[in-house]
Amino acid sequence: LTPNSFEYASPKSLPEAIELLRAGGDGAKLLAGGQSLIPLMKLRLASPTLIVDLNRVPGLEYITESSGFLRLGALTRMADVADSELLRQNYHILHDVSSVIADPLVRNLGTVGGNVSHGDPANDFPAAMLALRAEFAAAGPSGERTVKADDFFLGTLTTALSHDEILTEIRLPTPPPLSGGSYLKLERGVSHFATVGAGVQVTINPRGECESAGIGLTAVGPTPLRAKEAEEVLRGKALSDGRAVDEAARVAAGASDPMSDIRGTAGYKKGLVRLAVSSCIRKAYQRAHARRGR
Ligand SMILES: Cc1cc2nc3c(=O)[nH]c(=O)nc-3n(C[C@H](O)[C@H](O)[C@H](O)COP(=O)(O)OP(=O)(O)OC[C@H]3O[C@@H](n4cnc5c(N)ncnc54)[C@H](O)[C@@H]3O)c2cc1C
Repeated sequence: LTPNSFEYASPKSLPEAIELLRAGGDGAKLLAGGQSLIPLMKLRLASPTLIVDLNRVPGLEYITESSGFLRLGALTRMADVADSELLRQNYHILHDVSSVIADPLVRNLGTVGGNVSHGDPANDFPAAMLALRAEFAAAGPSGERTVKADDFFLGTLTTALSHDEILTEIRLPTPPPLSGGSYLKLERGVSHFATVGAGVQVTINPRGECESAGIGLTAVGPTPLRAKEAEEVLRGKALSDGRAVDEAARVAAGASDPMSDIRGTAGYKKGLVRLAVSSCIRKAYQRAHARRGR
């Protein structure tokens, strides 16, 4: 399998990269870790005329907390997310996600920014970004703008980014102290894409009642989905109450819209959503609860 021929550029700054994308028009494509783009090119499902390689643009790989946000540089490798002690302690969903994507080879090269910018509803990071209420900072010819995760995923392989915009930073609001999260990917085998995935983030009060919840779903629609009604079911409820958890999971499954395919029928996948969401709520609650007294 070989791609069609293309021009290659390796800019050394963000403005240079944006100018190359602008001048290259629709045929220009940004390359980050190449773990989605290169397979598509080899299959000739994508045939860009110009590849703009982001890897020599400095200052896009970092994990840091400042001004009320966790900030992930778009070029941060998924392996670095998995290895981050900060994320393991305080951003459980992101740690969970980064541990279940593909295999170490893909995670060493693939970037968080590429994983969300690709717009694949089967990718695992987007559901976590929805649950965590992420904002995406993008730079383009007319400057920088931010897009909320709810407005970012427009269709299969389509996001709110225009062809000459570069995702530079993912911003996640720092969670309140009694918060916990969990991501569960149900897959047919090691290194497979999700049959179904769910990410849940909860914040509780000292009585164990849910103050806020975020629920994102993977591979059950044309885009990653946020299960807003299921989030509402949890608000104000004691998360030790199994009935509230089961009801939220049932509502989330009802909101999902999976397709029947080689991984299973739509009905089977809805059943998996219910299972994954209830399991994630319980684990997120345990993790939030464990933070009391810290
Ligand atoms: C064998 C295998 C198994 C996989 N399994 C999984 C899995 O289980 N779960 C999962 O989530 N993913 C999986 N993937 C996909 C992979 O994890 C990600 O989709 C991939 O890493 C995307 O990041 P990248 O940096 O490699 O992006 P690239 O492949 O370089 O780019 C992907 C797309 O995003 C665009 N892009 C990249 N960076 C930016 C940016 N900063 N701004 C704007 N646009 C940008 C590119 O132009 C391109 O259109 C798998 C991939 C392989 C090869």
